Amino acid sequence: IRRPLIAGNWKMNGRLADTAWVERFQDALVASEVDILVCPPATLLHAFGELLASRAIALGAQDCSPEPDGAYTGDISAGMLKDIGCSYVIVGHSERRSGHGESDALIRSKAEAALREGLTPIICIGENLDEREVGRAIETVLAQLAGSLPEASAEKIVIAYEPVWAIGTGRSAGPDEAQEMHAAIRAAWPGADAQALRILYGGSVKPDNAGELLACPDVDGALVGGASLDPRVFARLVNLSS
Ligand code: 13P
Repeated sequence: IRRPLIAGNWKMNGRLADTAWVERFQDALVASEVDILVCPPATLLHAFGELLASRAIALGAQDCSPEPDGAYTGDISAGMLKDIGCSYVIVGHSERRSGHGESDALIRSKAEAALREGLTPIICIGENLDEREVGRAIETVLAQLAGSLPEASAEKIVIAYEPVWAIGTGRSAGPDEAQEMHAAIRAAWPGADAQALRILYGGSVKPDNAGELLACPDVDGALVGGASLDPRVFARLVNLSS
């Protein structure tokens, strides 16, 4: 019942010339039984929006303001993202939790702002290495989940489990670690519709480890950083999950 979602998070990478990615990605794409999403930096959203409008690739942003329009210098509202063709927005990425001091409560209000505009928030949660090593990974992640989750039906939200120690390190979680956490997240879902909730894994996903991660019953896709920048590598990830 859950259609897989393979999402690319470009983080702070990309220039206008990199819109050529779309054509190269499409050329390398074989079939698609999965939802595909690309989240370029804010500066490229408009250009990507125009290129993706005619294709079966969704557009997402990497963050949004919890506020509607107004006096919030430098911020971008969910309504603005909707206006230029986004259908998803990542909120609460660990790089924003740690680098910008974002709290669970703020992330929850960003997710609520996204939902108000009809965007699907991808809410990121994940423990750091210390928390895993002392045996508190599940507890930490479930606390983040409880604090960051807006009230909504499961089909309107995506959760991304991204262990901080796996992000950009080349060391992904093993399939057993990922499955254990994803099952715990699904079990903690407050509604009766947990089976409709898509839970993505993120953290050093590459073509050589994606197969075993995506084969886990509670892993419903991937949130891919570094490996999404190369259109052929990202297409391989999508192809092997189809
Ligand atoms: P990497 O795939 O580069 O480890 O990044 C994962 C991530 O943070 C995606 O949001």
